[in-house]
Amino acid sequence: MTKVFLCKETTKDETRIALVPSDVKSLAAMGYEIAVESGAAQNIGYTDGDYAAAGAKIVSTLNEGYDFAEIIVRINKPDSVAGIKENTLHISSFDVFNEKASVHEFANAKISTISLEMMPRTTLAQKMDIQSSQASLAGYYAIILAASKLPKIFPMMMTPSGTISPAKVFIIGVGVAGLQAIATAKRLGARVEAFDTRPVVEEQVKSLGAKFVKIDLGEMGQTEQGYAKELTPEQIELQRNAQAKVCAQSDIVVTTAKVFGRKAPLLLTKDMIQQMKPGSIIIDMAVKTGGNVEGSDPEKEVFLDNGVSIIGGDSLERFIPKDASNMFSGNVFALLEHFWDAENKKFCLNTEDEIIQGCLITADGKILRAL
Ligand code: NAD
Repeated sequence: MTKVFLCKETTKDETRIALVPSDVKSLAAMGYEIAVESGAAQNIGYTDGDYAAAGAKIVSTLNEGYDFAEIIVRINKPDSVAGIKENTLHISSFDVFNEKASVHEFANAKISTISLEMMPRTTLAQKMDIQSSQASLAGYYAIILAASKLPKIFPMMMTPSGTISPAKVFIIGVGVAGLQAIATAKRLGARVEAFDTRPVVEEQVKSLGAKFVKIDLGEMGQTEQGYAKELTPEQIELQRNAQAKVCAQSDIVVTTAKVFGRKAPLLLTKDMIQQMKPGSIIIDMAVKTGGNVEGSDPEKEVFLDNGVSIIGGDSLERFIPKDASNMFSGNVFALLEHFWDAENKKFCLNTEDEIIQGCLITADGKILRAL
C-alpha cells in the first residue's frame, strides 16, 4: 500500500488538477491509498463526492495531506517545502533549469523529486509525457484564441455578396504544439505555412496539408531526444530575414520555437512586426522561456501602434482545464502504474530504470543531475 496525496493547486492562474476521479479509481483498485485536498477540482466540475466515490479520502487541509502522504502529486511545484516530510516523493512539473534554488531546497529537505517535464522522450515514456499532452492542447487553443480575435474568418467563402479569401497562418516551430496548431488551423479552413529547423518536420507539415517554408540555415538537425539544436546568432539572423516576408503576409503568426533547457531564440523583431498587416495577431508560445517575439509579455496582450497585437501564449492549456487535467492525469496515472510493484503492493522507485534516471531530480538529500 502506498499513500498518494493529491493537492489543490495554489499557483496563480492554474486551473488544472493532476489526477481526475477516473484515474483515482483505477489507482485505488490497483492498491494505492489516496487522499485528496477538499475542493481540489471544483472549478472543472469534479467534486469531493466524485473523488470519494472513486475511493479517495478527502482531507480538509494541506498539512493533513502532507502528513498522510508517501507520494505527493500536483501540477506545479509549491513555493515552499514547509510541511512536507522527509523521504516523501514529490511528483509535479518543476521547471528545474529556472528553479535551481527550489531544487536545492527539495534536496536539503530530503524530499525525492520527480520533475515531469524531464520525462525522457522515448516510446515507453510517451504516455507519461506531460510536455506532449499539454503542448498538444496548447497548440490547439492558440489557434482558437487567435481565430476569436482576428477581424476576419478562417475559410475561403464564395457568396453572392463577394468572395472572402482564407486567413493566412504561419507557424514557426513545428513540435507537438506546432503540429496541433497546423492541424487546427487547417480544419478551420486557413491557408497554413510552417517552418522548423529540424528537417524531419517538412514531411509532417506537408502531410497535414500545409506548406513548409524552406530556409537554408546550413547545419541544423536535432538531438537524440528529438529536440532542436541551438542555432548560432548568424543562423538566427538568416532565419529572421527569410521569414520576414511570410510574416508580413500572414494574418496570424504562432511561434512555438524552443530549445530544451535554454533560452528560446528571438525570431520576430520589432522591425519585422512593423511590416505586418493591421489586425494581425501574433501568439508567442515561448514567451515564458525568453520569448520568440520582441515585446511579448506573459501577463498581457500587447497592442502595437500599427494595429498588430502580440499575445504571450504561455500555458494556454490552462484555458481548457478539463481536457488538460484529464491528459495530465493520464500521464501521472501511467507513471504510478508503471512503477507499481504488484507482488509487494507498493510503488517502487527503481533508480536503475531509464525513465526514473531521466526525471528523478533529487533523492537522499542529493541533486542527481547537472542543472
Ligand atoms: P520544443 O517544445 O522543444 O520546441 C518546439 C519546436 O520548435 C521544435 O519542433 C523545435 O525543432 C522548434 N525550433 C527550435 N528552434 C527553432 C527555430 N529557430 N526556428 C524554428 N523552429 C525552431 O519541442 P517539442 O514540441 O517538445 O518536441 C520536439 C520533438 O520531440 C518532436 O519531434 C516530437 O515529435 C518529439 N517528441 C518525442 C516524444 C517521444 O518520443 N516520447 C515525445 C514528445 C515529443
